[in-house]
Amino acid sequence: MNNKSLELQRKNTIETISAQIPRHSLAQYPTPLRPAKQLSEYLSGPELWFKRDDLISFGFGGNKIRGLEVMLADALAQGADTLITGAGVQSNHVRATAATAAYAGLRCIAVYWGNQPAQVDGNYRLTKLLNAEFRFTQSDDRDSVDAMINAVAEVQRWNDVKPYAIPRGGACAMGVLGHVLAVFELYQQCLSQGVEPDAIVLAVGSGGTYAGWLLGIRLLNLPWKMLCYTVSREPEQVSQQVADLATQAAALLKLDWTFCAEDTPVFGGFIGQGYGIPSPEAAEAIKQIGRSEGILLDPVYTGKAMAGFLHGLRNKQFEQHKKIIFVHTGGEPAFFAGNGDWLNSSPTAEQ
Ligand SMILES: *Cc1c(COP(=O)(O)O)cnc(C)c1O
Repeated sequence: MNNKSLELQRKNTIETISAQIPRHSLAQYPTPLRPAKQLSEYLSGPELWFKRDDLISFGFGGNKIRGLEVMLADALAQGADTLITGAGVQSNHVRATAATAAYAGLRCIAVYWGNQPAQVDGNYRLTKLLNAEFRFTQSDDRDSVDAMINAVAEVQRWNDVKPYAIPRGGACAMGVLGHVLAVFELYQQCLSQGVEPDAIVLAVGSGGTYAGWLLGIRLLNLPWKMLCYTVSREPEQVSQQVADLATQAAALLKLDWTFCAEDTPVFGGFIGQGYGIPSPEAAEAIKQIGRSEGILLDPVYTGKAMAGFLHGLRNKQFEQHKKIIFVHTGGEPAFFAGNGDWLNSSPTAEQ
């Protein structure tokens, strides 16, 4: 197929699929796509670009807003009056959900694992000011959040409240569709800016974002390879979760497509001591990108993904790629949690 007819086919797909995804607009798109000039020069490898989803113009931004636009449309269509979700106290997703609920005039109930922390800072401070109500599971097991979200929703139903439960981290098929639209957006932006990427770098947490990118790329038949770094679960576990979410989201679009873990490779090795604990490698990457581009990555997601990606570049893993786009998914409120001492830690040895 020649370029023009492929473009036309993609345009048609974007029209038909977008029309199947109801969405309640919260922000302005497209988010900027900008070259990282100094960094590209310094690395003297592929040309690097940033897709600035951290600049999404609502509720402190970040990728979670894209999923929430679709979930909000679904919640309102169902007549919901309360959004219930959960994660850890520093969750970007919970903060974004609290902002979404406030905007739409809904209640928000946030379920957090563990106990109420003494310190009210970062995302927790923002979520509080947005007037979310809190429940703590009093267990460090993160799965305890899912159980409590369902239990809280059940109790609310008895009380004649119409809750809309969003799984931990926002990872659900409905939310995945919001990220499919992000792929459509970036494709159109690349066309108009004359950028032809061959790979996309993404930080992976609960997997909904990656699932949407995978599905979007498959729908448009784009030659974009996903380079994904897990910041939370082990790679095998998260690969399966991403594949399952992509399959479920495809079903919402009436597509009988099945994805498996081989379709969703994930790089491991850059989680550090655990989810949400900043690593010295991430601190190093954050300083490097900040100082060369004026772009602030976050310590929980994008900093770790960038640490992994820079490590790959140094080891000539991506020689076959000419242009790579790093999706900056947000998370900056983490800079305002804790004392920031982690920024001064340095990697002990070259990996
Ligand atoms: C949640 C999040 C991600 C990962 O998204 P998932 O859909 O959970 O995989 C990446 N970056 C930031 C800043 C996030 O808040």
